[in-house]
Amino acid sequence: VAKAAGGGQTVLFQPAMREQAARRGGIEAELRSALAQGQLFTVYQPVVGVLPDGAIDRSAGVEALVRWQHPGRGVVGPIEFIEIAEQSGLIDAIGEFVLRAACRDFAAWQNELGARAPRLLAVNLSRAQLGDASLCDKVAAILDASGMQPAQLQLEVTESLAAQGADIQQQLQRLKALGVKLALDDFGTGFSSLSSLHLLPVDTVKIDRSFVSLSDTSHHHEVLIEATVKVARSLGMSTVAEGIETEAQAAVVRRQGCDKGQGYLYSRPLPAAALAAWIQAR
Ligand code: C2E
Ligand code: MG
Ligand code: MG
Ligand code: MG
Repeated sequence: VAKAAGGGQTVLFQPAMREQAARRGGIEAELRSALAQGQLFTVYQPVVGVLPDGAIDRSAGVEALVRWQHPGRGVVGPIEFIEIAEQSGLIDAIGEFVLRAACRDFAAWQNELGARAPRLLAVNLSRAQLGDASLCDKVAAILDASGMQPAQLQLEVTESLAAQGADIQQQLQRLKALGVKLALDDFGTGFSSLSSLHLLPVDTVKIDRSFVSLSDTSHHHEVLIEATVKVARSLGMSTVAEGIETEAQAAVVRRQGCDKGQGYLYSRPLPAAALAAWIQAR
């Protein structure tokens, strides 16, 4: 293949591959020790209630997002290590760490903030975690230890993942039977569509940032949001608009009747203490 493609490309391509593989192996080894040494931590982005009068409900919920405090590189985001964690089998341990930390922080907010505490905690699940036969037992045990109600937890799965085989569907049904809420993350980016939404046992549809970010300048994208909200609502599902960055986008989201919104317009992801302060700010 390299020869057919031409010598010049061979020379450039192979070292790049080797470098990439070495880098990947390096990250994997580092990630393994990061978990043991407590370098992973969680931040929380508010998920606000979108009210018809333009106000927001700051206590609607939060989404937990994992971060890595790397000793040399500073804070590293999940885009750079979740895939490696999935491929190396580290994702189960990382996922469990995130769920445990998030449930602990959520419980602490209930004490600290009382009636103004976030009402829902969203935690992302990866494909590999859904294949773990002990997932439900782990979730149940962590909920129990934190004193949270199962319905206060929302587990987020992506479209491609939710559309997969019978084993995944069964796992989702088991989680639902526990009483936890399920959300379909990044809706619109995968291969499933509005016509297959009814096949998924989810309570909430999260409309991907790519639609929201174009919705204030492209009528087409506003129409897609409108259609998603209508279909979701007819199926008894609620909607969240992801990645709201401008007031104009917030106006579209409100006009189209999304129940909740999330994005830098309201807040970036914050450490637990800063999240509590954000809720209390006026
Ligand atoms: P996601 O679940 O769709 O989370 C939303 C992502 O969008 C977050 O990126 C968040 O910081 C970012 N975001 C929120 N509002 C805005 C906005 O207004 N503008 C822009 N440009 N971005 C915004 P983050 O934290 O880098 O996470 C990326 C993805 O990594 C997440 O997407 C999720 O799929 C995955 N992820 C994060 N934490 C975990 C975790 O604990 N476990 C697993 N399995 N995946 C995780
Ligand atoms: Mg998510
Ligand atoms: Mg998302
Ligand atoms: Mg996303």
